[in-house]
Amino acid sequence: MNITREIVAADKRKPLFDDPLKLPFGRQFTDHMFTMSFAPESGWHEARITPYGPLLLEPSANVLHYSQEVFEGQKAYKSSRGEILMFRPRENARRMNRSLQRMCMPEIPEDDFLEAEGELLKVEERWIPGQKGASLYVRPTVIGTEAALGIKPSSHYLFYVILSPVGPYFKEGFNPVSLWVSETYSRAGNGGTGEAKTGGNYAGSLLATREATQQGYSQVLWLDAGEHRYVEEVGAMNIFFVIEDTLVTPALSGTILQGITRRSVLELAPGLGIRAEERRIAIDEVVDGIASGKVSEVFGAGTAAVISPVGKIAYQGRDFIVNGNQTGPWAKKFFDTLTGIQYGELEDRHGWIHVVK
Ligand SMILES: *Cc1c(COP(=O)(O)O)cnc(C)c1O
Repeated sequence: MNITREIVAADKRKPLFDDPLKLPFGRQFTDHMFTMSFAPESGWHEARITPYGPLLLEPSANVLHYSQEVFEGQKAYKSSRGEILMFRPRENARRMNRSLQRMCMPEIPEDDFLEAEGELLKVEERWIPGQKGASLYVRPTVIGTEAALGIKPSSHYLFYVILSPVGPYFKEGFNPVSLWVSETYSRAGNGGTGEAKTGGNYAGSLLATREATQQGYSQVLWLDAGEHRYVEEVGAMNIFFVIEDTLVTPALSGTILQGITRRSVLELAPGLGIRAEERRIAIDEVVDGIASGKVSEVFGAGTAAVISPVGKIAYQGRDFIVNGNQTGPWAKKFFDTLTGIQYGELEDRHGWIHVVK
């Protein structure tokens, strides 16, 4: 890729934050962004690194009406040796291409995706926090930009990458969060777009999340759309249960997002000494298991929070308290192992770390 660069003068750059561990998630953006355009006659072209700033779009642009939009979520870490590290970024490139395919949008060559992120990260290196627990969140996005109101795939697209320094995702930090099981709303149905990281899935889940937060819970635990019986995921995280001596997560059904953290937890489990299983799991099995003590831990897994222990699940008007509302040993072990690998402190036995520089 030939990337043209328009770099912000040193004295015009934004000031860095004082304490990255206190940064709210995704509110502050770095000085530059990467952009690349797609047109039918030229394919992907005009790769550029430019100052971060507003996009110029026609009000009739496809994305603003029919939501041809997909995105990814990744993090860049600074190791104690000063390297810029990313965690399994090729998996994100592949997943973005699967999302693009589902939304009838043009794919991006994996190597171009990685080069775009890598070159932008090198320009923005000063923004990558050195403290463990903080990182630089990477948000690649593709939108349909054609100015036309007919319902059809856009002819033109924009791929852009923006960066945001972040601290811990939940205000609770690495402390248990509470989940509220939605018995009426659904996130995704069979044959729908639940497996794609596309904006509409999240817009559709906001109302349920508002109800959950109004009642004092931090996130929604989604069930399947057909029967409202089987556990799916949390909406920005996949979900795990420790049931007796087995780690259980809902099997991929087409309606669950295929998390890279989820897959990494499953791949780490045998080495850490716990059997892992992907299967259907009914909400009754979960709440009965919490009540009887068979379910000893529940935690979410996703890039933003890495591992997020769950201390409370509300279902049918009852609160089920998990592990005395304390972080359990498996959540801690997976969190320590994943973050240890991500920050370059633990040996990368699985070949997951991509050294940008
Ligand atoms: C991004 C996301 C996840 C987590 O995926 P990771 O690859 O682990 O970050 C889980 N569920 C949904 C709905 C998501 O959008």
